Amino acid sequence: MEPMHICLLSAMPEEIGEALLHLDNIQTKTFGDFKLYCGIYNKDNNQTPVYITLAWSGWGKVSAARAVTRIISSSFYRIPIKLILFTGVAGGVNKNLKQWDIVLPDSLIQYDLDARPIFDKFVIPSLKISKLKPKKKIHELIYSGLVKAKNNNKLINFGKINKGLIGTGDQFIANNSDLKKLINDIPNLDAVEMEGASVAQVATQENIEWIIIRVISDNANESAALSFTQFLKQYKKHSWQLVKEILNSL
Ligand code: SAH
Repeated sequence: MEPMHICLLSAMPEEIGEALLHLDNIQTKTFGDFKLYCGIYNKDNNQTPVYITLAWSGWGKVSAARAVTRIISSSFYRIPIKLILFTGVAGGVNKNLKQWDIVLPDSLIQYDLDARPIFDKFVIPSLKISKLKPKKKIHELIYSGLVKAKNNNKLINFGKINKGLIGTGDQFIANNSDLKKLINDIPNLDAVEMEGASVAQVATQENIEWIIIRVISDNANESAALSFTQFLKQYKKHSWQLVKEILNSL
């Protein structure tokens, strides 16, 4: 059987960097200002090791789309990527979400995509849908794996684990008036970030399974920039905890 090859992507090194310390036989490839790492991960349960190609893309939809495309075509060990995992932080929109809560979106929307009058607002022209949804099976597998890990005190720094709707756009949302406009357009929006739905679009079009996982860093309001910066300093110490439990749940 061909070994499993997973893409682990985030926007910033703080969200994923420590994972590198847990990979063996790391190889790298560089494309301009973008660097890819591929290594072998031995899970806690000693099951067959998985190949992981890992990178941080930089902020925003274009950088994320470029990164995921590069990873898919990088073909380390000539093993095709089976799953794309994007993990990082997000601004909470749903008032029930607090810093450190985890959101595993069951749908994502590109809230700044508007090709009206040819398509309805938010519809992605190449896919003709507005909401990108991960495959139910992998979503459930990771969701239940994280809930189990939480119940076994393996995610002590993290808060509640939620499903929900994430909005992606090329904007750091940091004030209540932008937030209100977004909620007006998308009333059931739970969190905002700048990469998820773009990764999900590329993966969907490339027929590769994907999952996005976000941890709330701020409330997308006037204090967002400060909360975000302070949060990130702490988050980088704990991001591996989450990545590890995601990998163990597979
Ligand atoms: N301008 C900020 C950082 C912006 S980038 C600063 O002052 O440093 C924020 C990164 O975190 C992006 O990768 C995005 O996906 C995520 N993110 C966290 N909170 C966000 C928010 N409130 N709005 C949009 N993206 C957010």
